Amino acid sequence: MSELAKFEYAPAPESRAVVDIRSSYGLFIGGEFVESAGGGSFKTVNPATEEVLADITAGTTEDVDRAVRAARTAYQGVWGRLSGAVRGKYLFRIARILQERAREFSVLETIDNGKPIKESRDVDIPLAAAHFFYHAGWADKLEHAGLTGGGGATPRPLGVVGQIIPWNFPMLMLAWKIAPALACGNTVVLKPAETTPLTALLFAEVCQQADLPPGVVNIITGAGATGQALTEHPDVDKLAFTGSTEVGKAIARTISGTRKKATLELGGKAANIVFDDAPIEQAVEGIVNGIFFNQGHVCCAGSRLLVQESVHDEVVAKLKRRLTTVRVGDPLDKNTDLGAINSAAQLRQIRELSAVGEAEGAVRWSPPCDLPGQGFWFPPTVFTNVAQSHRIAQEEVFGPVLSVLTFRTPQEAVAKANNTPYGLSAGVWTDKGSRILWMADQLRAGVVWANTFNKFDPTSPFGGYKESGYGREGGRHGLEAYVTTGAGR
Ligand code: NAP
Ligand code: MG
Repeated sequence: MSELAKFEYAPAPESRAVVDIRSSYGLFIGGEFVESAGGGSFKTVNPATEEVLADITAGTTEDVDRAVRAARTAYQGVWGRLSGAVRGKYLFRIARILQERAREFSVLETIDNGKPIKESRDVDIPLAAAHFFYHAGWADKLEHAGLTGGGGATPRPLGVVGQIIPWNFPMLMLAWKIAPALACGNTVVLKPAETTPLTALLFAEVCQQADLPPGVVNIITGAGATGQALTEHPDVDKLAFTGSTEVGKAIARTISGTRKKATLELGGKAANIVFDDAPIEQAVEGIVNGIFFNQGHVCCAGSRLLVQESVHDEVVAKLKRRLTTVRVGDPLDKNTDLGAINSAAQLRQIRELSAVGEAEGAVRWSPPCDLPGQGFWFPPTVFTNVAQSHRIAQEEVFGPVLSVLTFRTPQEAVAKANNTPYGLSAGVWTDKGSRILWMADQLRAGVVWANTFNKFDPTSPFGGYKESGYGREGGRHGLEAYVTTGAGR
């Protein structure tokens, strides 16, 4: 294996001067930041340095109740009565402010989450703005969206929506949740993840800047208990959750027997399938993007590489060579490819599952790389000789860890790809269009990428099969989760 020419990069850090982090934050209820009714606080840290960034309020059941009441008042008094065109105007305004403040949001996201600035700058924040633009366009056209129930009935909002999001794409997940809810005329109470609350709190300021009527968006920070209080609140009409399958199941149990509607976007263990006729260099780039984008903290990550046996050695050799050029380090550096692991807890999980992979007989490999002394770090890691029964082939590692398996025939590739409780996404690399279509038909996955991976667009519905959840976000399909065409309140 020949070494690629090594380029030296001088540090190119993005300036932090553009963000202004307060030492502590309240809850955003009824259009303003307020103190908690008796709740404590917790700290959010920069996972790349372990620097404490701010004190965050832990919302209590009473706080959640206040927020839901503010959302109900705003729904009944203002937002639920506005015309779609006027709602659209607010959403366009928010979208434009996000674009104007994109650098600030990107830097803040990177500091709080640990993801490389090039990703928050080029993916998370532009896509978040795009979701607001896209849904702003729908706000006055909902009756033309062909939503189920149809029959000429005008789609109506559901009311107050509780939304709970994870830490891997904090601002983007917020946009996926809030933009369609508001476009359809609902009001929201959103709980960001414990380790990444800062961009949601900055978004609260954007709501003020956009003159959004008070109570239309409420942001309640806190841990799992705060999310649970939101789930259990009797006056929430719908819940939208993105997170782990475990918590998703708990939420489904909590709301069973109530009138609450729910969409659940849960975990994944995607197969990225490379056939022997694929353009190998391109596929290697797709494999790297599939599993190492966002440190592998991606629900739809291509964490199981299925390679046709005849090209296994070539693909693995080229992949390893490519990985020696991946730059791990300061997330604020514009040249960084792989940033910090989001939390000590997540790092522990990645370490544990990787150790299990080795113990079960898979062969572990990482390129030589110096990890910073402070913060939470894990090198890009590839496991070969992985069997389907191995835990690293079955469970979500949610880190920069790839499991490589092989197959001989397309049928075997399909059988192995579908052999998981999840079904969120898959990738297929081949020269043959007919094979792409056949594979897409066979794979039990909500999204199938062909000769690419991790492509997202607000117009394209996203969601899972099986234990990856139910409901879709994005596109025309995503609107269905936020309207009713039947009788109701
Ligand atoms: P998680 O533990 O399920 O947390 C998700 C959110 O739920 C967080 O805000 C969390 O609060 C909150 N929460 C925890 N316990 C709760 C409870 N009992 N009731 C209500 N809310 C509760 O998931 P995570 O580890 O943060 O995120 C990673 C998971 O999300 C992975 O499995 C990944 O695949 C999945 N994910 C899926 C998608 C998708 O679109 N399908 C997208 C991104 C991520 P705390 O932050 O305080 O724990
Ligand atoms: Mg943090």
